Amino acid sequence: MSTSPAATLPLSVVIPVYNEEANLPLLFKRLYPVLDGLGRAYEIIFTNDGSADRSRELLAAQHAARPDVTRVIEFNANYGQHMAIIAAFERVRGAVVVTLDADLQNPPEEIPKLLAATDAGFDCVGGARQNRQDSAFRRYASRLVNVARRQMTNIEMTDQGCMLRAYSHDVVAAIVRSGAVNTFIPALAYTLSQNPTEVPVAHEERHAGVSNYSVYKLIRLNFDLITAFTTAPLQLFTMFAGVCSALSFVLVLVLAGRRIIIGPEEGGTFTLFGIVIFLLSVTMVGVGLIGEYVGRTYQVVRGRARYHVSHILDTKS
Ligand code: UDP
Ligand code: MG
Repeated sequence: MSTSPAATLPLSVVIPVYNEEANLPLLFKRLYPVLDGLGRAYEIIFTNDGSADRSRELLAAQHAARPDVTRVIEFNANYGQHMAIIAAFERVRGAVVVTLDADLQNPPEEIPKLLAATDAGFDCVGGARQNRQDSAFRRYASRLVNVARRQMTNIEMTDQGCMLRAYSHDVVAAIVRSGAVNTFIPALAYTLSQNPTEVPVAHEERHAGVSNYSVYKLIRLNFDLITAFTTAPLQLFTMFAGVCSALSFVLVLVLAGRRIIIGPEEGGTFTLFGIVIFLLSVTMVGVGLIGEYVGRTYQVVRGRARYHVSHILDTKS
């Protein structure tokens, strides 16, 4: 079981980076002055999630320029945004931990708002994006997932996708201890917190480049969100399958009765085909769902390292 070090600093800022060479210079330019202006000691942990561009060089240069506050974790390959954040969580020294995207969609200038909430005693502060600057598809998909999440889990938040968030060191340590795989950090943090809240934050368009999330990756992530926190889909499926088999049993009775009273039907073959195919598809959905849970169990049981760090740039360790 992994643990995180004790809190020896007031603030840690955690930023996952994947092919962000076009955004990093401006991010550095906007982020450091905000943090320097807070009047509290801080550290920034960048996780380079196997970028194929010059992100690595830019991060190394920034570490050289500000070794006092900059730490860089280098992954050997791409493990995804949430693993990049977990790797940083395993190393944070801040009493408060802020997460932020590297593409400037979350303005660094909003960090003080989150800190005002953590200072007020909230241990899990979510940013709720105002005027979200994403494609209409992303916004509608998000709304849909929101509804599903609200129905199936008891996680209450208006914006689960915003990565501009602040957590207490305790919540971060609990996330690390949980050893979660395929996790959706905002939701996990919420379930581990005592006193969560949300604050409105601005949202900007991606400064440069395109989103690293393909539709495929988004579907996987949101599937994770539901299956990692509830077994409700399994139960819903079981109920649905129960209703289906009851209905098809009634249908069989009706058909049998018809056969005895009116005689065998001839034209009904296709109806039967339809019914059989429908039932088959229901079964397939169920098998897929069960597979998802079995897969998760397998991953935990296998206990394989979730990511591999190739090296760390850090003056203190
Ligand atoms: N990211 C990462 N690994 C990945 C994909 C993304 O570390 O495999 C980082 C990326 O550099 C950015 C953040 O996660 O800092 C959010 O990614 P992106 O902007 O592509 O997602 P979106 O804002 O479209 O949800
Ligand atoms: Mg983005």
